[in-house]
Amino acid sequence: MEIKINNNPRHTSVDFENLSFGEVFTDHMLVCNFINNKWNEPKIIPYQNISIDPSTSALHYGQAIFEGMKAYKDTKGKVWLFRPKENFIRFNKSCKRMKIPEIPEEYFINGLKKLVSLDSNWVKSGQGNSLYIRPFVFASQPTVQASPSNEYKFIIICSPAKSYYNESKFNVLIAEKFSRASSGGIGYAKAAGNYGASFYPTSIAQDKGYQQIIWTDSNEHKYIEEAGTMNVFFRIDNKLITAPTNDRILDGITRKSVIQIAKDINIDIEVRPFSVDELVSSANNKSLKEVFGAGTAVVILPISGFGYKNIDYNINLPENSYAKRIKKMITDIQYNVSKDPYGWRVGI
Ligand SMILES: *Cc1c(COP(=O)(O)O)cnc(C)c1O
Repeated sequence: MEIKINNNPRHTSVDFENLSFGEVFTDHMLVCNFINNKWNEPKIIPYQNISIDPSTSALHYGQAIFEGMKAYKDTKGKVWLFRPKENFIRFNKSCKRMKIPEIPEEYFINGLKKLVSLDSNWVKSGQGNSLYIRPFVFASQPTVQASPSNEYKFIIICSPAKSYYNESKFNVLIAEKFSRASSGGIGYAKAAGNYGASFYPTSIAQDKGYQQIIWTDSNEHKYIEEAGTMNVFFRIDNKLITAPTNDRILDGITRKSVIQIAKDINIDIEVRPFSVDELVSSANNKSLKEVFGAGTAVVILPISGFGYKNIDYNINLPENSYAKRIKKMITDIQYNVSKDPYGWRVGI
């Protein structure tokens, strides 16, 4: 792989204590072009602007997808990825749905490892610190023809991150009108447009004082699907419940990890449709003990309350919550603090 080193590295001048998420990027980026019907060898180059034609297809038709993953540094300074193969598989699943040519595994995995090791001094050790990795691909053919592009760009950029969403209060509004995804659509893909389309309904919820939306099924708004850009879990008494994945729900790697760990520590877990009615009645009869979101950005985020049909419900996190226990087990694997019986941790 061709590597061009950045001779003006910036990591020494970055204030790592005061980072706002996703605004500072590392010294290098990976770029790989699809032209003449094939993916060419990726290159690593200094982080820089890219120049595109105003007719670039992705800007008009949204043929673009991405992934989100993280690298973690242990106390000895070694850098680890968490289940990167899963991100690779999902990347190509998203590509396929958006009629983007799939990326060869070695370009994604080896390219990613090379890039992260080159910029490893941007990964700070200590729980909560990480390097957020953003692989993405977009249709780069200069054309306004409404058809699949014949050129694409696959790029990986990295941004140092501290844990975010760390407000103590995280209240969600149950969607009664808007939907994130519909049956037969692209909800299961990390397609750019899914996120763009969620900004407006989310901003309405935020204006009403909620932090995020709980998305419900687009057919009836009866069943709970996701919390913002996280999968969502409910604890009723000592049972943990999450919705099965379908074509409207993103198959989260954190979700999968939570389910596996819950099983292994003998938490009773049910993967089944969970209705808004059941949420409201369990909140009313006090059997609802916890609600939490699960995703790479935060691992697990306890939800402190929800609003539905103009009523607000509070959820008080119990001592020794499932959320805390499971989060610790996942982060201990990520930061190489504990053994990893699953083989989830991958060294750079
Ligand atoms: C990325 C994402 C998730 C979480 O997936 P992870 O693999 O756990 O990070 C959940 N829901 C949506 C809509 C997402 O985009």
